[in-house]
Amino acid sequence: MTSTEQLSSAATWWSQAHADDHLLVAYFSMEFGVDVRLPIYSGGLGILAGDHLKAAAELGLPLVGVGLLYRGGYFTQGLSDEGRQTETYTPIDPQSLGLHREPVTVHVDLAGETVTAAVWRYDVGVGPTSTVPLYLLDVDLLTDALYSGDREHRIRQELLLGVGGVRALAALGLEPTVFHVNEGHSAFLAIERARILVGHGMSGDDALEHIRRSTVFTTHTPVPAGNEVFDDVLVLRYVGGLAADAGISGETLLALGRTPDTDGFGMTPLALRLSAYANAVSALHGEVAREMWAGLWPSQEPRIGHVTNGVHLGTWIAPELGELLRSAGVRPEAPPAEGGWDAVHELDSETFWQTHMLLKERLARLSGLGAGPLTIGFARRFATYKRAGLVFSDLERLLALPVQIVVAGKAHPQDVPGKDVMQRIVELSRDPAVAGQVVFLENYNIELAQAIIPGCDIWLNTPRKPYEASGTSGMKAAVNGVPNLSVLDGWWAEAYDPSVGWALAGSSDEADAAELYRLLEDEVVPRFADRGAWVELMQTSIARLAPAFSMQRAVIEYTERYYLPAALARAGR
Ligand SMILES: *Cc1c(COP(=O)(O)O)cnc(C)c1O
Repeated sequence: MTSTEQLSSAATWWSQAHADDHLLVAYFSMEFGVDVRLPIYSGGLGILAGDHLKAAAELGLPLVGVGLLYRGGYFTQGLSDEGRQTETYTPIDPQSLGLHREPVTVHVDLAGETVTAAVWRYDVGVGPTSTVPLYLLDVDLLTDALYSGDREHRIRQELLLGVGGVRALAALGLEPTVFHVNEGHSAFLAIERARILVGHGMSGDDALEHIRRSTVFTTHTPVPAGNEVFDDVLVLRYVGGLAADAGISGETLLALGRTPDTDGFGMTPLALRLSAYANAVSALHGEVAREMWAGLWPSQEPRIGHVTNGVHLGTWIAPELGELLRSAGVRPEAPPAEGGWDAVHELDSETFWQTHMLLKERLARLSGLGAGPLTIGFARRFATYKRAGLVFSDLERLLALPVQIVVAGKAHPQDVPGKDVMQRIVELSRDPAVAGQVVFLENYNIELAQAIIPGCDIWLNTPRKPYEASGTSGMKAAVNGVPNLSVLDGWWAEAYDPSVGWALAGSSDEADAAELYRLLEDEVVPRFADRGAWVELMQTSIARLAPAFSMQRAVIEYTERYYLPAALARAGR
């Protein structure tokens, strides 16, 4: 290989578009879904963070991830005889998963007790492209499990991530120019950064202003349980000393986390107050978030923008379909370009359908259902706002249709109402009268999602509007040519038009259910019977939605709208 060839094969979007820019992004998240064997994610938030790192690696973006290594991981889901979720935690063995122990340790004070964390590195990379390091802090006892439920345990984990994460990067000799706080969990990192600046002689106010200018914050949900709140007493006990070292009084600290209309210390208000760049994850969520947090800036326009989420196409487009797309000259690994996916329409309709049938057959082997019938997929976390029971609300009418349904998803270990909904669906799927048409697949994770989604014909999402801030499984379906039938919430409110699927208004349960059945009976089932029209729908879904909802598009937006301006604002000081 000549040196020019080496250069061109190594050229990335970053090296071509931004070679002269100085940037290092530190991306902090409580969860990362990068590999099914590393269960340190519970659902959409973690997988999004994993996809962010993968897309950054492909783009050549200078970015590192920072998270926690939960020794017990997230649970493996089983089902009891009563159809109730069972939870098993299997210890993670970092070495066997290709994690490397870094030669540094980090100390963090937790209410008078000093804990020492080891730091592991996991290289996130896709094929021969550049990689992004993910640093995971590990304190045997503290990082036992993701979401154990105890508030004190939780604030200790969040301090370890925020404060320990900043110290780990320094110990590794890294000097990030921008910190991205992915959901409020890691927002204590700002207090630690202030402490360092004040230690170098800066005033407390100047330090906070400096930190604001180099911090990007992404809020992910309007659901109250997703916006974490701690008791003031707990915050003062755990963070008071650190804040004092940063020149921040106890009173000022509590004011930074005050929420407009509830008691306690909110991690979302803290993150919003300490970041100059804040965003929601879809256009509609942007509107909701601005309204939700308007009370934080009574005399000002709330400055929350939006970057609509995306999915990492290399992870989520089924390999067989990816091959077929490449044969038409489409490159899922390249940054999305105008018209870059139009060639999907030139693919021979019969070959295209045969590829989809392969994926349907694979799912059929897994589910025990047939490969032929119209298959509806519904898989996501069982949170009650997702209304998993809606499609089953008139069972007789549903079962009269020539369709079958594949359901999967975990409920949060503490979410009793979510577990109840799940149990009812599992019981239903075990009823002999229904069994041939409804199946529940256990232990939804990255691998199962990769098997289910491309093998379906319709992807269903029926959240209570406006609680689905974005939703990403629908994007994974769309990029595999699986049309969505969903409530006009989150990403679908932006993506929907009749050429790529069907829409529900998102009003009352009764109205949405009635419209759902009408669409299935009058539109979806008849259209599915017309193979040519259906393939056209599938191809349009891919050609229009893959470039628009690719994670590379989202990461490029973050870079150009937030990371680079934040790095410049900091340098300009
Ligand atoms: C994509 C994904 C999710 C998130 O799905 P939503 O539709 O956004 O709720 C959750 N779990 C797994 C395993 C996924 O792959």
